[in-house]
Amino acid sequence: MGDRLTEKSAPGRHRPRKRFSQNFLHDAHYVARIVAAIEPRPGDRLVEIGPGLGALTAPLIERAGHLTAVEIDRELAARLRARFAPRELTLIEGDALKIDWAALAAADARPLSIVGNLPYHVSTPLLFALLPVAQRVRSQHFMLQKEVVDRIVATPGGKDYGRLSVMLQFRYRVTRLFVVPPGAFSPAPKVYSAIVRMVPYAAHELPEIDADQFARVVAAAFGQRRKTLRNALAPLLSEARIRAAGVDPAARAETLPVAAFVALAAAMAAA
Ligand code: SAM
Repeated sequence: MGDRLTEKSAPGRHRPRKRFSQNFLHDAHYVARIVAAIEPRPGDRLVEIGPGLGALTAPLIERAGHLTAVEIDRELAARLRARFAPRELTLIEGDALKIDWAALAAADARPLSIVGNLPYHVSTPLLFALLPVAQRVRSQHFMLQKEVVDRIVATPGGKDYGRLSVMLQFRYRVTRLFVVPPGAFSPAPKVYSAIVRMVPYAAHELPEIDADQFARVVAAAFGQRRKTLRNALAPLLSEARIRAAGVDPAARAETLPVAAFVALAAAMAAA
């Protein structure tokens, strides 16, 4: 880091704000493992959500040369500006849920590598907000509450398998990399965390179905988890159409693979 002001020597301690889910990573072992998993290379177009005190930001900049970050907390944004030069860090001070991800993605031809130890209170909506730009993304590496990662990578039949699993597995290859204990953070959260890797499928690998129809059929199927598809999908598809899609109308959503939801969305388009 040369003679750059490190966070430890920055003036005054930052008081963590609960409303922004501020649990700062302070364990060098996990920082190194996360950075190794991201594999940043010079010239990569890295975007970090919630850089906080810069635990990941600094080693990522060191490896990639430049990073764009989105931070909601003004005080942290000021610290980051004092610590990193504009040629190293482009800081967007704002809410990652509200920024125009499509415009950010379109600003440069290079695909985005999105990373972050996500604020847990908004992690699921953030994952949904990033879905529409998946085609402009090379990879996403996120630290999330372990239970959320378990839901993202879940396979049909288990209690963790649901709307989040299907919506994300449709667009990305998802892999749970490793678990991070509460003690790696300050303050320590009450829950375990885990790292997930999400690599978008290329356009030619995706089935040609309407993304909105897919989202509607998945939401309806899991909206009433305990109901059979015949009942849960009644507003969208007749029993005959469910059967014609090759799906058992007496089955429950939690038993269906992603491909079955694709078939149901296609059946909706044909209806
Ligand atoms: N990356 C840092 C680390 O690993 O130590 C901080 C992680 S902390 C769990 C979450 C960070 O996200 C905090 O810096 C917080 O201020 C920021 N944050 C919270 N809500 C946000 C939002 N809606 N948009 C952007 N940043 C947000």
